[in-house]
Amino acid sequence: MQTNFTAAQLADPHVQESEKILRKCVHCGFCTATCPTYVTLGNELDSPRGRIYLIKDMLENGRAADKEIVTHIDRCLSCLACMTTCPSGVNYMHLVDHARAHIEKTYRRPLANRLTRSLLAFVLPHRGRFRAALRLAKLGRPFAGAFDKVAALKPVAAMLRLAPAVVPATSALEKPGVHAPKTTRRGRVAILTGCAQPVLEPGINEATVSLLNRLGIEVVVPRGEGCCGALVHHMGREQAALDQARQNVDAWTREIENGGLDAIVITASGCGTTIKDYGFMLRLDPAYADKAARVSALAKDITEYLVTLDLPEPARKPGLTVAYHSACSMQHGQKITRQPKDLLARAGFVVKEPREGHLCCGSAGTYNIMQPEISAKLRERKVRNIEATGAALVATGNIGCITQIASAASMPVVHTVKLLDWAYGGEKPAGLPEPSLAAAG
Ligand code: SF4
Ligand code: SF4
Repeated sequence: MQTNFTAAQLADPHVQESEKILRKCVHCGFCTATCPTYVTLGNELDSPRGRIYLIKDMLENGRAADKEIVTHIDRCLSCLACMTTCPSGVNYMHLVDHARAHIEKTYRRPLANRLTRSLLAFVLPHRGRFRAALRLAKLGRPFAGAFDKVAALKPVAAMLRLAPAVVPATSALEKPGVHAPKTTRRGRVAILTGCAQPVLEPGINEATVSLLNRLGIEVVVPRGEGCCGALVHHMGREQAALDQARQNVDAWTREIENGGLDAIVITASGCGTTIKDYGFMLRLDPAYADKAARVSALAKDITEYLVTLDLPEPARKPGLTVAYHSACSMQHGQKITRQPKDLLARAGFVVKEPREGHLCCGSAGTYNIMQPEISAKLRERKVRNIEATGAALVATGNIGCITQIASAASMPVVHTVKLLDWAYGGEKPAGLPEPSLAAAG
């Protein structure tokens, strides 16, 4: 694509990067067919190609964002299916990240929208605040229907509906510490505790540590580590995202320099995509660029790390049929496709792949709160495809997808690592059917 930026505009390294990305796009439109918002809404401006034109026009003319561009960029899930499809290697992720930061700087959103976004940015990245908010949400849940009647309050209704009926007890894993294996130590990793996942489902990281310890891997929960920054990053709040990234880079660098790390293990693929991008996000900060690149290189999804180990035979072969849902951040963001399925099959599960596996389930960070209608359509489509497999349960590697799919599916939705932990001698995840019943059903 031809671009017309001035030399003065190109002096800005962010514009320079976006210009390089824009030039790669050849307008072919292949990406439209796999874009969930284009497939759902049928509007070119809600396709990757349409959004690329809008972003180009805004940046080239040095214009402030307006209502039209904000509407179409806000509808983008950042699922990155377009990047998987694009034959020209257009880095839509970095382009839309730049556009969101530009929108945040130049556009004044309506009051209700500003308040909701500020509330989410204030609460979600902090475990204590999020836990308290979920407890409050239980009280507010009966009023969700009333909030639904006012357009500006629909996100509040969506938040209340997504809150779990029971908030799990705080896990000991939230505290910094070292979890040593009982057998000979074969490796040492740090685990990302993160923000929302340990509050909603602490059992995921507990299963991870238990499995890794049984395999002889020491697991460190470093002091000072927290939210990966993805949530505010996707809102265009660059400074807040970079601050969170720097805090994590510092925490992991201390561990790299003290005990050494083979990997930084991540059990939420949404966080994994962002941490693998820290090297890019902090490239312009001389104090952090190298350290951030080192952290990004060490970041591994738990399944990516497990396949590097010499796994023993599983302790049991569960024999259950599992529909594997590949989170967008797993398959498009990190290009991890085979590892989770191979590990599940090796552990004795029968793995089925739902149709339209490339399409997002509609969770996408806070998307299911901010865009509840599109999100609900995508969720229904996803659940239909999953249920058509006839599987007894769903396995996936991202807490957002677990919450989203479980809110509509008729079968349990379990993190992949909890199933692997069970097969390799750990506890059976709650709510799973017995293999014989599953086969009969
Ligand atoms: S990130 Fe997803 S929703 Fe956004 S343009 Fe690309 S395919 Fe469409
Ligand atoms: S597939 Fe790639 S090159 Fe083609 S229109 Fe989409 S982003 Fe541009």
